[in-house]
Amino acid sequence: MAIILDGKKLRDKILSELKLKIDKYETKPKLVVILVGENPASKIYVNNKKKTAEKLGIISEVLEYPENITETELLNKIKELNNDKSVTAILVQLPLPKHISKENVMNTITPEKDVDGFTPYNFGKLFSGETPTVYPCTPKGILLLLNEYNIKLEGKHVVIIGRSNIVGRPLSQMILNENATVTVCHSHTQNLTDIIKTADVVISAVGKNIIKGEMLKNDCVIVDVGIFKDENGKTRGDVDFESASQIASYISPVPGGVGPMTITSLMLNTIELFEKSL
Ligand code: NAP
Repeated sequence: MAIILDGKKLRDKILSELKLKIDKYETKPKLVVILVGENPASKIYVNNKKKTAEKLGIISEVLEYPENITETELLNKIKELNNDKSVTAILVQLPLPKHISKENVMNTITPEKDVDGFTPYNFGKLFSGETPTVYPCTPKGILLLLNEYNIKLEGKHVVIIGRSNIVGRPLSQMILNENATVTVCHSHTQNLTDIIKTADVVISAVGKNIIKGEMLKNDCVIVDVGIFKDENGKTRGDVDFESASQIASYISPVPGGVGPMTITSLMLNTIELFEKSL
């Protein structure tokens, strides 16, 4: 039976250390989250971020704008926050309404306050093998989780399924930096099953139940990033936990694996940006 990669336990450990760290500072970090429109999932994510930040002593403000805010108005607001010395971290919750260019928004956030690590400057740094201001939250959380269980990636074949800008793409670069051999798969990948069979580590970020135990190599490590609700409303990941946990040596559960690590990384990034600003 596989060992569980327990994201909740590691989150609690890291956040309690962070709280002590923040308590020591006289001025506090300030995270501003911009939320546009009425997307219910985004509202929940933003609320969780605010609550977690406040528990740690981070000043947290959510700026909510209606769906019909113009791009110019939004960009002007971001420029204002860039120039506000009390604001140390800016996050624009995605997705944005269609009439607003995500690229223009990301281009406007100053890299020094880019808490998600999504601006072209920080992405460029990451993809050219340099160090960005901060690393994107979900990939960073995955590496923290693997590191906590002393899982080394050097020389390993790591198969990432999914190539989104928030998970697969940045993660592929961060794992290359760990000297792993990286294969990135997506919806056009042929022979996905054959590729997965050769993986020492499988990291799946798809949002569909696509991996079963029989597809895996014995003793591989499984990191399940996917989250979706099945037809019965139950929260599930990409991996069939029951069969996969019989084959793998380590496995992250859904919920309780990568999810808690993403928010933990956001808090770590907020502190990193704050400390760099001092
Ligand atoms: P996304 O932008 O929709 O990307 C999904 C990726 O999966 C795409 O690259 C897509 O390929 C690929 N894909 C789709 N069907 C596939 C198939 N049958 N075989 C192989 N690849 C396939 O999603 P995302 O934003 O990265 O999120 C992915 C999942 O992770 C979602 O369930 C999301 O909720 C979850 N998530 C969790 C966290 C967390 O903190 N736990 C954070 C972020 C995301 P194409 O590129 O070819 O379309």
